[in-house]
Amino acid sequence: MSIIEFRQVSKHFGDLKVLDKVDLNINQGEVVVLIGPSGSGKSTLLRCINGLEMITGGDLVVDGISVLSGNVNLREIRQEAGMVFQQFNLFPQLTAEDNVAFGPRHVRGLSRSESLKISHELLEKVGLADKKKHLPAELSGGQQQRVAIARALAIKPKVMLFDEPTSALDPELRQEVLSVMQRLAEEGMTMVVVTHEMSFARQVGSRLIFMENGKIAVDGKPQEMLINPSNPRLQDFLKHVE
Ligand code: ADP
Ligand code: MG
Repeated sequence: MSIIEFRQVSKHFGDLKVLDKVDLNINQGEVVVLIGPSGSGKSTLLRCINGLEMITGGDLVVDGISVLSGNVNLREIRQEAGMVFQQFNLFPQLTAEDNVAFGPRHVRGLSRSESLKISHELLEKVGLADKKKHLPAELSGGQQQRVAIARALAIKPKVMLFDEPTSALDPELRQEVLSVMQRLAEEGMTMVVVTHEMSFARQVGSRLIFMENGKIAVDGKPQEMLINPSNPRLQDFLKHVE
């Protein structure tokens, strides 16, 4: 069964058409890697999935709930999809454990001790059990991004959305974040990942989508698309990212 269904989805910002009648079904357990030139609509596509942007045409259904069906449901959708941003977006004044506990405490309404228990389990999972009392500014970029992943997981999402999660990191810090993502994928998490990390796409992605001008230009198996890209613009794009 599809967990995410785009049906002829369009998104305009004023006169600018950013998504152009996108049809896309994502099944449970798929790891979809999204690539494409800057401005092709990748971030907007992700942001529509968790209701950070509202679609302006078509319909988008996340785990059976249409984003068009009103505010109460939109809040539910936001709890279905955890989002990880390029710039980590942690609360700077909160320790790692409180950043991760925030969702359980304030979105799910659990007690402080229950929230911290979840937080500690997730910090352990991303390899940061010993950093729980640290503020974001006291952590490396890679550690901050792992806290951000733990924080997104704390709302128990059915889907994880990643928008260039390693782009702000020095090359030597990227692998620790990619490894955490790979482990999540191996555990069966449904993921949509915007990234330029082609080795991740090849090794972890179950599906690769190349976007261009708000449309899905190519959608297929990473190995096939990367080894023998038939679309000339995809060929050209790959020359510039590798
Ligand atoms: P990508 O992530 O592929 O680089 P985006 O989805 O961020 O592309 O942006 C697609 C297009 O939409 C770009 O032309 C961008 O300038 C425009 N855009 C994105 N967000 C907004 C916004 N909030 N208001 C106006 N235009 C926007
Ligand atoms: Mg983007």
